[in-house]
Amino acid sequence: MNAIRLEEPGRLTLLSLGTTEVRPNEALVRVHRIGVCGTDIHAFKGNQPFFSYPRILGHELGVEVLEVAAGIKNVSPGDRCAVEPYINCGVCIACRRDRPNCCVKLQVLGVHADGGMREKLVVPAGKLHRSRSLSLDQLALVETLAIGCHAVDRAKVEPGEFVLIVGAGPIGLAVMQFALEAGAQVIVLDINQRRLEFCQSQLGVPYTVNASRADPKESLNQITSGDLPTAVFDATGNPQSMANAFEYPAHGGRLTFVGLFPGTITFDDPNFHRRELTVLASRNARPADFTRIIGLIEAKRIHTSPWITHRASLSDVVTEFPRWTNPDAGVIKAMIEV
Ligand SMILES: [Zn+2]
Ligand SMILES: [Zn+2]
Repeated sequence: MNAIRLEEPGRLTLLSLGTTEVRPNEALVRVHRIGVCGTDIHAFKGNQPFFSYPRILGHELGVEVLEVAAGIKNVSPGDRCAVEPYINCGVCIACRRDRPNCCVKLQVLGVHADGGMREKLVVPAGKLHRSRSLSLDQLALVETLAIGCHAVDRAKVEPGEFVLIVGAGPIGLAVMQFALEAGAQVIVLDINQRRLEFCQSQLGVPYTVNASRADPKESLNQITSGDLPTAVFDATGNPQSMANAFEYPAHGGRLTFVGLFPGTITFDDPNFHRRELTVLASRNARPADFTRIIGLIEAKRIHTSPWITHRASLSDVVTEFPRWTNPDAGVIKAMIEV
């Protein structure tokens, strides 16, 4: 079977792999769609922390079940599924406390272990989440959406509150969709006017602030009548933006870091203390998020049409992928068809 492997930063190759056996508790799936995200782009550029090469990328997968091990009940051959790509140990402190998304020994497919940029893949059957009606494209978008779903869950977003999302890239878009679904009054901050307009026209975000044109703090005060937003999400992974984000929550508010920066973030303690801020990390997503998102897309509460901007077949990935890494390409989500 064909696969695409990232041999080292900047070099993808098309190669042929042997078939893999299904062991107990596993399922063999046919990979139909692979979403490309920031993690893949960072790995390609060589600036993804904790990343080793060579690696088969691909953690946003829309698949069809081909074969299951004896005794598997949650899926059967022919089922179409989203894949929860977080392989957890099941025994560590996080796993024992129902937090498999931040398992001590977590292996994310396509990041720490070889992923799904190939025709067939063997995965633990319990990591498959099936849908009778979602398209393969939609199934491949579930993991991206789950990042936003989990972040909004972490911050316990309430109806009516002002929620600020810093960064209108794919992670920010995912957070927006669930903040809107939670009934929050959403404000988006970015420096790219085209992205801000996209959030307004495609997702129905009521408030946007262009930080390159206006003072963010002043704009936030105006929008919230001087209160400031009670929940703030940083989806940039940019250290300057993450440090600035400590200025934006209301007194008693919370700040959630969805983006990741491989270094140290500093903040002013009196400012943090005076406001009694709660700071949260949000890592990956939990199994229940996958189930919930599939239900929300099935019920047409979450719309997936704005997401996919670029497409390629598996054999064209070697030439197309480098183009997607150029910010001028305007990629929100590139989808690989296998
Ligand atoms: Zn991703
Ligand atoms: Zn664990």
